[in-house]
Amino acid sequence: MFIDARQLDDGSAIACDVAIIGAGAFGITLARALRGSGRDVVLIESGGLDFEDETQALYEGATDGIAYNLDTARLRYFGGSTNHWGGWCRPIEPEDFEARAWVPHSGWPVSRADLDPYYPRAQEICELGAFDYSVENLARLGPPLGLPGGKIADGFFQFSPPTRFGERYRDDIANAADIRCLLNANVTEIVAAHDAGSIARLDVATLTGKRFTVTAGTYVLAAGGIENARLLLASRSVAPAGLANDRDLVGRYFMEHPIFGPIASWICDAPERIAPYYGSYTALGDAVARGCLSMTPEYMAREGRLNTIFTFTPNDDVRYLPGRPAEDGPIPLETEMLTLLAGVEPGVEHTGKRVYMGCGTEQAPNPDSRVTLADEVDALGMPRTRLAWQITEGDRESLLANVATLAAAMGAWGHARLRRIVPADFAWNDIDMFWAHHHMGTTRMAAQASQGVVDANLKVHGLGNLFIGGSSVWTTGCGATNPTLSIVAFALRLAERLRAGEA
Ligand SMILES: Cc1cc2nc3c(=O)[nH]c(=O)nc-3n(C[C@H](O)[C@H](O)[C@H](O)COP(=O)(O)OP(=O)(O)OC[C@H]3O[C@@H](n4cnc5c(N)ncnc54)[C@H](O)[C@@H]3O)c2cc1C
Repeated sequence: MFIDARQLDDGSAIACDVAIIGAGAFGITLARALRGSGRDVVLIESGGLDFEDETQALYEGATDGIAYNLDTARLRYFGGSTNHWGGWCRPIEPEDFEARAWVPHSGWPVSRADLDPYYPRAQEICELGAFDYSVENLARLGPPLGLPGGKIADGFFQFSPPTRFGERYRDDIANAADIRCLLNANVTEIVAAHDAGSIARLDVATLTGKRFTVTAGTYVLAAGGIENARLLLASRSVAPAGLANDRDLVGRYFMEHPIFGPIASWICDAPERIAPYYGSYTALGDAVARGCLSMTPEYMAREGRLNTIFTFTPNDDVRYLPGRPAEDGPIPLETEMLTLLAGVEPGVEHTGKRVYMGCGTEQAPNPDSRVTLADEVDALGMPRTRLAWQITEGDRESLLANVATLAAAMGAWGHARLRRIVPADFAWNDIDMFWAHHHMGTTRMAAQASQGVVDANLKVHGLGNLFIGGSSVWTTGCGATNPTLSIVAFALRLAERLRAGEA
């Protein structure tokens, strides 16, 4: 059921078995998966059922370094940022979980096998097709590129409608006898017990001035990849450095997926070969799919690179006479690219496809890229977020090397020529690029408390009854794999453990 917290009595004390902070992809999935478990769930959501300026303004903050709009990069009402997500989905690759000698701070304490049992159900929740991301499945759209050299892998995304969790699952929450969803309820502090070994209660406030508490046996923080860190750092009445922050890890290692659209253009004289990569919405069985290319694990290990995922936007057909641009033909640069294609006979007209290539790229975990608290406070008196996001020269070098590697593989293939259209010395804030709005790393997962904030089961190290959900627990950026499908899978995994009494 829904309860408008503004109608509660000031000073109310609400008790439950499981308190979940945030009704986004993680919080809604976890609450739904706990229905009928015998656990009484309170889902605490800052916003109402629709967007409201005053609540959204609680997300405003300051940035150092890379310019970033903290407000528009997420949404603060029931359903969270799934109210405007794009629906691009792929599972995290098995190799992304492994420690990579050339990527400091890499290596998750879980493996892909730990998530595999939950991905099929997560696919259903995100309204995707079958959990089959194999190249064999892609081949149903046409032959994958299979570029020579073993450095470039074929793959694809599936598209969610996109599922607006707040609309799609609203009735489930409204009708569940064992879920109370408090709307317009902002957690302002997660208050630790005096020994700081467990959580004692949540302090909650409304923008109308009501203050109340929620106590639970188990607490789950699922307020989004940036807000999870902010709330822990602001919870300092018992632990002055912030909750779970004894080792100064909370807020550090912030990663995003820089997205370029486009980073390269290319000409292909075999348009039929790129059919699996056309457009955004191609039916693939019961899924909607779009092909992509990425770097193979062998290449990344050999060359010491991060991953980049490339997507294609085929544009117009081009007709050309090699060596002589037709009046309505390709621009000179492309003519030059065309003449380099294998099998091109001078003086004979050919046809091809002009293609623009976008990409999303991985950042290495970096402790100096971080979320901290600003001096300014919001309307509830909570310190606002300060984001000092860094993208390193290593991240740039890796991206440029990956583009060059792709260009070389296409050249070796013979049917395409690629040219990078972003200068090598580009400034991150000045070019045709944007961010994916994937907020990762600020409460990273690690087996040891010295290396991370949560353990393999999302439990906060050193705190008996607090769990964290969402992409803030990501240890690495996982190529440019969009996180929401995996966020949902992790929520299902935690629900199973809670239901079994293992957590
Ligand atoms: C424009 C855009 C496009 C995107 N496209 C994609 C995509 O194509 N594919 C993909 O995988 N991902 C995409 N994402 C990311 C995706 O939206 C997030 O990964 C996902 O929403 C995260 O789920 P979450 O539950 O962790 O957090 P959120 O969805 O952010 O939910 C957190 C919830 O917590 C609430 N909350 C915050 N603070 C408090 C508090 N103090 N007290 C109580 N409640 C609080 C918020 O109101 C919100 O409802 C996109 C994001 C944006 C912004």
